[in-house]
Amino acid sequence: MAGQMLRFVNCPQRLPEKRSASERKVDFAEIYKAFDPQHAQEQASRCSQCGIPYCTVHCPLGNVIPEWLRLVTEGRMREAYDLSSQTNSFPEICGRICPQDRLCEGNCVIRPGFRSVTIGAVERHITETAFKEGWVVPRKPVEENGQSVAIVGSGPAGLACAERLRAQGYSVHIYERQDKPGGLLMYGIPGFKLEKTVVERRCQLLAEQGIIFHLGQAIGAGANEISLETLRAQYDAVFLATGVYRARKVQGPGAGLHGIVEALDYLKASQTEGVDGDRLSAQGKRVVVIGGGDTAMDCMRTAIRQGAAEVVCAYRRDRDNMPGSRQEVANAEEEGAHFEWMVSPEAFIGEGRVEAVRLREMRLGAADAQGRRAVEPTEATRTVKADMVICALGFEAEDLPALWQQPELAVTKWGTLDVKAGGYETSLPGVFAGGDIVRGASLVVWAIRDGREAADAISAHLSNKLDIKVSPVGECA
Ligand code: FAD
Ligand code: SF4
Ligand code: SF4
Repeated sequence: MAGQMLRFVNCPQRLPEKRSASERKVDFAEIYKAFDPQHAQEQASRCSQCGIPYCTVHCPLGNVIPEWLRLVTEGRMREAYDLSSQTNSFPEICGRICPQDRLCEGNCVIRPGFRSVTIGAVERHITETAFKEGWVVPRKPVEENGQSVAIVGSGPAGLACAERLRAQGYSVHIYERQDKPGGLLMYGIPGFKLEKTVVERRCQLLAEQGIIFHLGQAIGAGANEISLETLRAQYDAVFLATGVYRARKVQGPGAGLHGIVEALDYLKASQTEGVDGDRLSAQGKRVVVIGGGDTAMDCMRTAIRQGAAEVVCAYRRDRDNMPGSRQEVANAEEEGAHFEWMVSPEAFIGEGRVEAVRLREMRLGAADAQGRRAVEPTEATRTVKADMVICALGFEAEDLPALWQQPELAVTKWGTLDVKAGGYETSLPGVFAGGDIVRGASLVVWAIRDGREAADAISAHLSNKLDIKVSPVGECA
């Protein structure tokens, strides 16, 4: 039977082992354990090797999933790694945190009768095996090509772009305002989904590849900041990958009370030692999280791990109409979070400090074009006690032309950067952009795709400008 595919009929889906809720809610370690080789081989062999693989079609990176599943089944791990790393710059990260139920696995054809192939867990296994075996090495260029690119922001879009450009011989400098690289991989997504050592290991490889990191250096118009104009003058091209960070605010009486905090401030503090301990810690508090997306789930699960007395999520739609992944909701519930469905915060009650939230009960209205039901208020209200309220209502772009003092920088009606249709160049010649700053709040896998494609667009733009030698991607020194 070794090496045989199409085993989905006799071989049931087995996800990697999940740590028990009681064990995992007292630490920030990842909740899923890794596959062992036999388990991975068995699960990969469930694939029916579709001629037109919908899993690949729905993977933003176009990963050649059936091919590497077959190689894993046959025990040809080195080849599986070589193949999977050709289309994905950070497969160990996507394998852990892609919402697979909405992407590759959600479109696996065996799903109607059987449960999908566990694609994400196999992808993680392939790359972790490669790290263990020493196959993951920095892709150093064959030779320097004499041109330079500045990248603003070290999230997945910036890192993926940097990795690909550096492999082609560009001198690549990343400017990052935080003290560590990784963007939301480091200071947003909690460790129980993605341990920080995984991000650090990848950033270390990028530094060994020869990418120069300028940490703690913002690009802007403030004191000690470098202007975008200076970067444009110093480098042959610039890639903007600064993400979206302006939090949508809660409204209503009492919205300014002490104890009401923004999700990202809270999550960042939980990942940084000694930051504003009392204001941004949930320990011993009754916590209400406002919002129904994955950020809200991350906040609830972080609060539980910090020892909150009680954690409640207030969301204005019902379970079926929430944006958060079903799996993350289930994980939060297992760990002890409680949901108040169909409610919207109306007022925050307290003397100086929040003590309770008055919630307006909602009912579902008509569905929109995407099938998502609208909500409308009812006459009823209810009140929940709260010592801390975490607002997770989503993020928007800042006023970018003002931030970078470039009035001619074109933005969309949502404030995100406008890039040439089908390309990545902004209205400023030689300035490219990708990731959340172009898409709005999105996913890591889309940011990686943008970074990779923008690198190719930058490379094409610069090769046209000068007759330079570009090393083919994938060639290592
Ligand atoms: P970012 O990751 O935001 O990186 C931008 C970087 O630019 C940051 O490091 C920032 O400090 C830096 N920067 C900004 N302005 C400047 C400046 N002026 N000068 C210098 N540096 C600057 N996606 C998933 O796929 N799976 C998940 O499970 C998931 N969970 C999430 C949980 C949370 C709490 C949040 C907030 C998001 C989550 N996402 C998840 C979304 C995902 O993290 C983002 O879509 C992705 O990180 C976007 O990548 P990016 O490179 O465009 O931007
Ligand atoms: Fe699935 Fe994400 Fe991997 Fe693509 S990158 S195969 S969507 S887990
Ligand atoms: Fe295999 Fe499912 Fe992809 Fe078909 S859709 S190739 S069964 S993983």
